[in-house]
Amino acid sequence: MPNSILDPDLETASPAAIRHLEDERLRVQIAYNAATSAYYRDKLAAAGVRPDTIRGVEDLARIPYMEKTEIAASQQDGTLIGINQCAALERIVRIQATGGTTGQPMRLGLTRRDAEDYADMGARALWAMGCRPGDVVLECMNYNLYSGGMSDTTTFERLGAATIPYGVGHSERLVEMMAAIKSDVALWATPSYAVRLAEVATSLGHDPRDIGLRKGFFSGEAGMQVPGFRERIEALWGMRAQDQYGTGELGLHSGECEMRHGLHYGGIGSAIIELIDPDTGAVLPFGDGQQGEAVYTSIWREASPLMRMRSHDICQVFTEPCACGRTSFRLKVLGRSDDMFIVKGVNIFPQSIQAVILKLAPSLTGEYQVVLDRPPPIDYPVPIRVEVAADVPAERHDALRAEIAHRLKQALNFTPAITLEPAGTFATGLKVKRVVRSFRS
Ligand SMILES: [Zn+2]
Repeated sequence: MPNSILDPDLETASPAAIRHLEDERLRVQIAYNAATSAYYRDKLAAAGVRPDTIRGVEDLARIPYMEKTEIAASQQDGTLIGINQCAALERIVRIQATGGTTGQPMRLGLTRRDAEDYADMGARALWAMGCRPGDVVLECMNYNLYSGGMSDTTTFERLGAATIPYGVGHSERLVEMMAAIKSDVALWATPSYAVRLAEVATSLGHDPRDIGLRKGFFSGEAGMQVPGFRERIEALWGMRAQDQYGTGELGLHSGECEMRHGLHYGGIGSAIIELIDPDTGAVLPFGDGQQGEAVYTSIWREASPLMRMRSHDICQVFTEPCACGRTSFRLKVLGRSDDMFIVKGVNIFPQSIQAVILKLAPSLTGEYQVVLDRPPPIDYPVPIRVEVAADVPAERHDALRAEIAHRLKQALNFTPAITLEPAGTFATGLKVKRVVRSFRS
């Protein structure tokens, strides 16, 4: 299947060839970081690491971690890019913000080469997901600062698909536009927005399956890996829905192939991922099925490289060969370590709550938010706000609340305190923050 892989040289390279490339680029990158950034130079010096002693991936563990908050803090005084800026402004051609669902947006720069690498990496991931030249993609991510908008558009262009840069909001107008286009279209959005859009289509009198939305490329939330969620989106629209994972700092990097067993890591040659224990910081062996927090190190970045940056995303990796022929490892995102909360010693990820709530569709929209209003230990009923479908009469709400509480208790062994919210409360096209710690504000 020579046509099914965009860059066969890179994507089917042997593990030894990949390691050789990573070693070589890591050496160059670390020397560059130390030569161009006082922050990186000092960080290495404080750990007693001479840049020229980093010979390859096996030396990574000697380098201290960095936190996104260090970069964000260095921008507080108005500094444009912050402490990890390694290229002069004259060489920077794009500035984006990242920040996910917490904290202040953090600015990062891209040189021309960085921007090209971003586009190449994303194009490989999207190709694996089934995107092809000839696809017409409605891009419904946030263009306001974030890489999910403008930079991701460049990845679709690099692949050769036609994008309609739409952005977030104006959902009714979007549905009417899609319905008016006679050819099939595709969507680049958060998965929760695809569900919301189907509700909007129905409320406007359309059967979503008649609209011709046949491919969905989804990112920004871990929901696609929740049992039942993908199937629901595919049934709502009559589409094929594929999952993608990326980070603002690194780009749109990983996409799932037709085998749907994890997302192929697409950042080969651009960044190295390590897995660590989020509590102790110990590096974990990178074996099949291993779970841990992903840590990123850029090896092909000029403007805002990362050097062992903690993502606080908990991932599971799969290293057995994939039938599609790609040799990169695959990953599943289990959730944010800061979205995880602990009840009676058990780690609860929001996605496991979502799986329970999805089983009560169509009475519930599938959207929800956990509001932790007191600091741990969580020995109190966990407040969860759950969206109820508009056509459920108010007199059924009490019974529905009790049913949700019962099912959550059965499945996850904790007692929730459920409140119902109107449809559309959470899914606005932006990332939904699943766990809010309101006691912190
Ligand atoms: Zn594959």
